[in-house]
Amino acid sequence: MSAAGLVVGGEQVPARDGRTIAVEDPSTGETIAETARGDAHDVDRAVAAARAAARRTRAVPPAERARHLRALAAALDADREAFARLETLDTGKPLSLARGEVAGCVGYLDYYAGAADKLHGETIPLGPGSLAWTVREPVGVTGHIVPWNAPLSMLCRSVAPALAAGNTAVVKPAEQTPLTALRFAGLAEAAGFPPGTVNVVTGLGAEAGAALASHPGIGSLTFTGSVATGRAVLRAAAEHITPVVTELGGKSPQIVFADADLDTVAAQVVTGFTTNTGQYCDAGTRLLVERSVQAELVERIVARTAALTIGPGADDPDLGPLVSAEHHRRVAGYVEIGRAEGARIADAPRELPDAGYFLAPTTFTDVTPDMRIAREEIFGPVLAVLPFDGEDQAVALADDTDYGLGTGIHTRDIDRALRVADRVDAGYVMINEYFAGGPGVPFGGTKRSGTGRERGLVALESYVKLKTVVARISHHPSSNQEGTP
Ligand code: NAD
Repeated sequence: MSAAGLVVGGEQVPARDGRTIAVEDPSTGETIAETARGDAHDVDRAVAAARAAARRTRAVPPAERARHLRALAAALDADREAFARLETLDTGKPLSLARGEVAGCVGYLDYYAGAADKLHGETIPLGPGSLAWTVREPVGVTGHIVPWNAPLSMLCRSVAPALAAGNTAVVKPAEQTPLTALRFAGLAEAAGFPPGTVNVVTGLGAEAGAALASHPGIGSLTFTGSVATGRAVLRAAAEHITPVVTELGGKSPQIVFADADLDTVAAQVVTGFTTNTGQYCDAGTRLLVERSVQAELVERIVARTAALTIGPGADDPDLGPLVSAEHHRRVAGYVEIGRAEGARIADAPRELPDAGYFLAPTTFTDVTPDMRIAREEIFGPVLAVLPFDGEDQAVALADDTDYGLGTGIHTRDIDRALRVADRVDAGYVMINEYFAGGPGVPFGGTKRSGTGRERGLVALESYVKLKTVVARISHHPSSNQEGTP
């Protein structure tokens, strides 16, 4: 099996010391590829290539940059089935889900293509003869450290606005899932971007990731991953006062009031905690339900999860495997923790495929707010159900967590929905739906779920430096009204 190299300056190159990492298919546990194990030296090379490309990119008019981004979107769209199959192979996710994520990536590129030539500054009149204006300049080289749960989607979410703002990028994919990032880098040059616009350094977090986070040559960093790693990344970036966007974990509640349509809600709760086998940052893994309808709703949820198909991603089931043996141990460990804490599993046991890292959706009832399964991000298809009595308690429970990413609110009472949306401390609130949004809708967390926002026009601000120019534009007395009679 030949090893896929790093992508540096438009070339595929091996890591300096020739080391590689095995990449697995989580549906079988078999090795499917070897990728280069880049280190700090390789990150240096990639940043140097990106800096050289950034100098050329600065000369490219914004309208042309927009055309390149549109061409990149079209190239990805033309190759979407191959990207989706590769993502499924690498992550184990169901093919339909991978297809949806690739379509979402095309959406990010198209959306930010539209913004590339509209990044204006403002003019601020300072009185007669004097004017200030602002200019949004690229930061130069942007760093992107990406997780394994939605590898291409998380890459495009931050690389698209970074390129639209005129930067060049160095991407560090997760060691478990590097394949689509490598393929994507090949498309950028063909779309018209100078070689070195998108560089990819595959490797371990503690080696390549840490080197990128602390590199003096990058102008901004976007980190998507766990809270623990986010903390390490923020410390490393502090060395050079590099601005960081952090998109971290969650323990997102779905709040269900008794007046909601329980069939619709059951479907949304199941979607919220089982899609991508629960491996989404905003997975709705805490069900807060008004006590009077708890039993009825849990019954409907369990009936739905029992009907979900589980299998290799390529067979397009409802749930694929978890991403790795290590992650499977972690999530299965939480199921044991839940039992030991005294919570009760509402589902009947079920058969799972022999090979691969499969785990059945698990709904815990008899959960109390102090239990670890109610507080910690599990990142698997595990739901903790907590009853509440009244709106105040619902809001208190929703906020009783270190995280503040998604919140679902389900009720027919629009006044209550808006009131609760206003009261909860979360970055992203969804009323009577879950996983809704798109490239134009800002996304991010409060508390330990992160800093900064991705998606929407607001995300562009993370990839520009705002320069202010203050100028006297006329010394003529007629422009100084105070001096005129
Ligand atoms: P992780 O933190 O283990 O790894 C994320 C990335 O950081 C990987 O590329 C990894 O190699 C790298 N890394 C690891 N150690 C590093 C270090 N010391 N310095 C620099 N980089 C390092 O996260 P994960 O397990 O890959 O992903 C799951 C987590 O990501 C979950 O907590 C999930 O909630 C979060 N996530 C958040 C969002 C969001 O938008 N908020 C989206 C997707 C995933």
